[in-house]
Amino acid sequence: MPRDYYEVLGVPRSATDADLKKAYRQLAMQYHPDRNPGDKHAEERFKEANEAYAVLSDADKRAHFDRFGTAGPAAGGGFTDTGFGTLFEDIFENFFSGGARSSRRSRAARGEDLQYELKITLEEAAAGVETKIQIPRLEPCDACRGTGVEAGSRLETCDLCHGRGEVRRTHGFLTVAQPCPKCQGAGQLNRHPCTRCRGEGRQRAERLLSVKIPAGIEDGMQLRLSGEGSGGANGGPPGDLYVLVRIREHEVFVREGADLYCDLPVSFAQLALGAEVQVPVLNGTAELRIPPGSQPHQILKQKGKGMPHLRQRGHGDLCYRLILEVPQRLNAKQREALLAFEAASKGERGPLAQAFLERMKKLLG
Ligand SMILES: [Zn+2]
Ligand SMILES: [Zn+2]
Repeated sequence: MPRDYYEVLGVPRSATDADLKKAYRQLAMQYHPDRNPGDKHAEERFKEANEAYAVLSDADKRAHFDRFGTAGPAAGGGFTDTGFGTLFEDIFENFFSGGARSSRRSRAARGEDLQYELKITLEEAAAGVETKIQIPRLEPCDACRGTGVEAGSRLETCDLCHGRGEVRRTHGFLTVAQPCPKCQGAGQLNRHPCTRCRGEGRQRAERLLSVKIPAGIEDGMQLRLSGEGSGGANGGPPGDLYVLVRIREHEVFVREGADLYCDLPVSFAQLALGAEVQVPVLNGTAELRIPPGSQPHQILKQKGKGMPHLRQRGHGDLCYRLILEVPQRLNAKQREALLAFEAASKGERGPLAQAFLERMKKLLG
């Protein structure tokens, strides 16, 4: 036997449509599964209230119930998508999704971030540089001012979801909200898309932008140009442009932080006698004094002549590593001079050779 629907809703037999609606709304709110997760009793009450209201809110079914005490052949358990879903939506609209908190997804979307690889020289990195770059990107369409709608037309409220952006599907007695398949949750339809951008709201453009590279920038650093990425769709904000700075390999300098290193080939005589040699510096050359008695791999520093520190005062050092190059062939004169040198050096040992001899002695006992 079906229960007495009036009793389920707690209303008298004389209840008006407004009374029924009010009573049903109160019960449905109280026992809605969203508010009573896992509560079987609440689910049961919710289902009963739905059934009672579905019958009593329909004049024919109510009359049938009043006369025969049953809902009639069409009612009872048969709550279809359209039947109950629509009923539920009509009464609650955004109630369970929070009322004021709209579930609508905006058509507006932020533009994509873009990346541009900029190659500069080490000299440019040292001095800082302002340069122009050409960026292909999407910008808001001129014809529709980014709306995607043909001039003279406007967006229409979606007829499937009535602008709510979501539809409710009823599975048994559970109601599930889903994004509207017709408008993808926007709540609005663009029936007259702009012909220039085909409703995208954006068009391709090449934009010449000025980029300021700060002195001391390092390879692989990125500069963010806020709002210079692709334009947003349908009024959304633009993305950002990231300029990835790559520094070309230099002919003679290797950078280590703010210091620059240069391998400088020198002869034995230059190391032994000392010398003034011409060396490369950034943007030119300079004289470097090699003191007499310098050793292979020794590093001679020019303080403060390296790269500037990024966004700080001061510079790193310019470092020359002395690389001894031994001649692979000697002419007669060189040979004679070296033999004479060796004869003149008999018995003389440098500190390295002396220390080595000591260790050898220990080893042999
Ligand atoms: Zn829709
Ligand atoms: Zn357009």
